Amino acid sequence: MVESLARSDSQMSDGMGWDDYEYESVPDLTLDHQMSRDFGPKLTRGFSFTILDKVEIESKQDQYISQIRETLEVSDCIARSLLIRFLWDKEKLIQKYYDSEDLVKELFNYDRHCGMKIDVSSQAPYLCPVCYMDTNNPISMECGHAFCDECYREYLQSQILLGPDSINTTCAQSGCKLIIPENLFQKLCTKEGYQKYYYYFKKSFIDINKTTKWCPAPNCSYAVEYPSMKSTDVVCKCGNDWCFKCLRKAHRPIDCELLVKWCDRIDLGQDDTDIWIKLNTKQCPKCKASIQKNQGCMHMTCSQCRYEFCWLCLGDYRNHTAETGRGLCNSFEDVVAVGRGKQDEMEEKMKLDFMLKKLDHYKTRYTEHYKAISFAQKKKLEIQNQIKNCIEINNKYGPRDFVFLEEIAELVIRARRALTYTYPMRFYLESPAKQIFFDFIQSDLETSLEKLNKRNEEDWQLHLEVDGYGAIHLGERFFKYKQDVNNLRSAVETHFSKVINQIEAGLPDIQDEIDKVLGEADNFHKATQWTCPTCTTINPIAHETCNICRTKQPKIVAKR
Ligand SMILES: [Zn+2]
Ligand SMILES: [Zn+2]
Ligand SMILES: [Zn+2]
Ligand SMILES: [Zn+2]
Ligand SMILES: [Zn+2]
Ligand SMILES: [Zn+2]
Ligand SMILES: [Zn+2]
Repeated sequence: MVESLARSDSQMSDGMGWDDYEYESVPDLTLDHQMSRDFGPKLTRGFSFTILDKVEIESKQDQYISQIRETLEVSDCIARSLLIRFLWDKEKLIQKYYDSEDLVKELFNYDRHCGMKIDVSSQAPYLCPVCYMDTNNPISMECGHAFCDECYREYLQSQILLGPDSINTTCAQSGCKLIIPENLFQKLCTKEGYQKYYYYFKKSFIDINKTTKWCPAPNCSYAVEYPSMKSTDVVCKCGNDWCFKCLRKAHRPIDCELLVKWCDRIDLGQDDTDIWIKLNTKQCPKCKASIQKNQGCMHMTCSQCRYEFCWLCLGDYRNHTAETGRGLCNSFEDVVAVGRGKQDEMEEKMKLDFMLKKLDHYKTRYTEHYKAISFAQKKKLEIQNQIKNCIEINNKYGPRDFVFLEEIAELVIRARRALTYTYPMRFYLESPAKQIFFDFIQSDLETSLEKLNKRNEEDWQLHLEVDGYGAIHLGERFFKYKQDVNNLRSAVETHFSKVINQIEAGLPDIQDEIDKVLGEADNFHKATQWTCPTCTTINPIAHETCNICRTKQPKIVAKR
C-alpha cells in the first residue's frame, strides 16, 4: 500500500533531460569559441581548474549520488539528502560518515534501523495526522512519517515557492530532517512545479558547492571547478577571464582585497578628499574647529569662536607686533623665538602633497592601460572578422591557418590586463628596495608588451600573396611572418608568466637582485649619496630619510 520511493536508479524515468527545463540559453560554440579553447589557460594563475558544460555537470552530479549510494550503502533518497547537507562536498561527507556511525541519525533526526515505518502489510486505511481523513494511499519516505497524498502535495507545492531553497525541503513531519528526494516532487507536484524544483536541484550542484562557480559572463552556462578557492584567474570556454574568488574580471597579479581597496581609492577619492582637507585647513588654535583658508589674507577669524589668529604661525594676530616688533611673522628666527616654529607641520603637508601626486601618477597609468585593454579587445574582433572574410573568399584555407593571429591578439589582451594591475600593486608597495626592483621589471614588461602590440596592430594581410585571379596564397613570406610573430609571442608569454608569478609571490629574490643592480652603479656616488626610490631625489648618505618625501633610506645602501 505504501509505495517505496527510494530509487534504484538516478536516471530520469521519463527520459526528460535537464535541457527540457532549461531557464538559460546555452552559448553557440561558434568559430570564435572553438578557437579560443586552445589557448585558454595561459597567463592565468592556476592551471588546475576544470570547465564544465551542462552535460558534464549533470553526469557529475549523478556520479556523486551513485558513488555515495554505493560507498555508504544507503538508499538513493539518503544519498541525495546527505549530499545536499554537505553542499555536494563528497570527500568531506565520506570522511564524516566514517568518523561518526550515527551521522544519518544525527543529521536527519531519525534512525534508519528503528521501527518507525508504518506497517506496509496493514490493509486498514491510514488516518492522515494533518487532515484527519482516512487514506488508502499514504505517502511516506523511509523515516516512516506518513500523510495523505493531498496534504503532501500541498506541502511540496508551497515549498517550491521558496525558490532554490526548496531543495532543502524536509519530511512533512516537524522535527524530521530527512530531505525530500526529487522523485517525490516528480510524483506529487504539478509538471510546472516539478520543473522548477528539478532546475533548482541541478543548479544546486554548482550553486551551493564551494569548489564550483558559474561563469559570470552574461548568457554563459559553463561552470568552473577549482578546488583550492584562492584568488585565481580562470578562463571560461566562452572567452571570459574572471577571478574565481570575487567573480570580477581577471586581476592578476593583485588579490581581491587590494583590488577593492584600489578601486575605492580611485573611484570615490575618499582618501584624497581627506588629504585635500588636511592640506587646506587648519585647526583654530583656541577651539580646534577646522578652518579652511579660501582667500589670500593671513589674518584669520575663527567662525566658531571669533578668535583672530595668523594663518602662518597660528599665533594671536593682534599680538604679532607686540611679540616680534614687526607686522608679520616673516622672520623664521622671530617665530622660533616665540615658540611657534612649525617644521613638523610643513613636513606633514609635504608628505600629504606627495601622496596625492603619487596617487595621481599611478592612477593615470592604471587608467590608460585599462583603456588599452578594450582597444586590444576591439583589435581581436577586427582580426577575427578579417580571418572569417579571408576564409569565406578563399576556401583553400581554414581557421587553423590563421589561429596564431588570434592567439597573439588574445595574449595582448591578457598581458595588458596583467600590466594594468601591476600599477595598484606598485602604489601600495612599501619596501624601498622592492620599489626599485619593481619599477625595473615593470618597465621591462611594458617594453615587451609594446613589441608584441606593434606586431598585433600591423596589417597581417600584407603578408599574403595574391595570384592573377585575385585568390590568396600563403607563401614563404607568410610563413616567415608567422614564424617571427610566433617566436615573439612565445617569448613575451614566457616573460610575463615568469614575472607575474614572481610579483604575485611578493618578489622573494629581491635582495639578491638589488645587490646586483647596485653593483653596477657608480661606487663613488653610492658611498656619498643615495637616490630616493620614491621621488628620485638624491640625498646625502648621512640623511636617514629623503629630504623631499621622507622615505627612509633603503637599508641595503646604508649597509655599505
Ligand atoms: Zn491529509
Ligand atoms: Zn520523516
Ligand atoms: Zn563563460
Ligand atoms: Zn578577485
Ligand atoms: Zn575657534
Ligand atoms: Zn604669524
Ligand atoms: Zn623622496
